Amino acid sequence: IAKRTHLPFVVYDPQQEENRKSVLSLLGELKTAVDHDQLAVFLQPKVSLRAGHVVGAEALVRWCHPERGWIPPGQFIPFAEQSGRIRGLTLWMLRRCLELHAQWLARGREIGIAVNVSINDLEDPQFVGQVESLLARHGQPHGMTLELTESGVMSAPSSVLPALERLRQLGFRLSIDDFGTGYSSLAYLSKLPVDELKIDRSFINELEQAHGEGIVGAVVELGHVLRLAVVAEGVETEAAWHYLRRLDCDLVQGFLVAKPMPIEEFETWLEQGWSI
Ligand code: C2E
Ligand code: CA
Ligand code: CA
Ligand code: CA
Repeated sequence: IAKRTHLPFVVYDPQQEENRKSVLSLLGELKTAVDHDQLAVFLQPKVSLRAGHVVGAEALVRWCHPERGWIPPGQFIPFAEQSGRIRGLTLWMLRRCLELHAQWLARGREIGIAVNVSINDLEDPQFVGQVESLLARHGQPHGMTLELTESGVMSAPSSVLPALERLRQLGFRLSIDDFGTGYSSLAYLSKLPVDELKIDRSFINELEQAHGEGIVGAVVELGHVLRLAVVAEGVETEAAWHYLRRLDCDLVQGFLVAKPMPIEEFETWLEQGWSI
């Protein structure tokens, strides 16, 4: 009964209380995690459908907690965002990825890195300045992409526009993540200073169902009309790969190519070469 959330009164649920405590204590520890290098960057390749080679990687955070072990981002990112504590994490990820990218460039490896940025970050007028000071010390933005969710950008359109424009002027590519789940205004979308559109995994899952191919094809076309690179995320099967190729999608990311990996493993994986 306690789980029926539509009840007009709150039922005490000890399990929920436990979860709440556990989330709160995790949040308290997040700053420690950032300061004591308990966070790790995992990388997942982005592959060109036409050329078949790796052109970039998305950086995904992992938390190696001293007692709880590896915690996936779904278990702390949303709470960190809601409580306004995401900034330290975003800047930590960005700094690590700028440094890594600079190392790669020095070794002649031209692979872009994409970092996820939360809408809370973009809405804070201090954010762009904080990014600029990172750039001064840790690397340059060319070849770096910032991924912003469609729902985030659409929920606060006019206020985030100047920040997006400034980040793009600095040299970052901008990508609209989880596209198709966030009720975009098409008029607004065409005015956004972005370079890439990532079709949400849920649509890729349904490629083989009724209308699935038509919907994904329409999104690819929309992206191309707006001169955006179109990425399909969550590609798990060869069948999906072939559909997407036919639909003229540009890039693919998903378990079919590789799961997110620790940096060293990603580098080894790259050197071994990949082919479908
Ligand atoms: P996202 O940005 O949409 O990232 C893609 C998620 O899909 C990742 O989950 C990835 O592991 C997973 N994925 C990739 N390919 C496949 C596939 O073929 N099949 C399936 N089933 N899943 C696939 P992950 O790493 O657990 O991250 C979940 C979400 O947490 C991310 O979704 C993103 O919204 C957020 N997140 C992760 N790292 C960061 C970060 O550093 N900062 C922020 N603000 N958010 C992050
Ligand atoms: Ca993303
Ligand atoms: Ca995504
Ligand atoms: Ca997603």
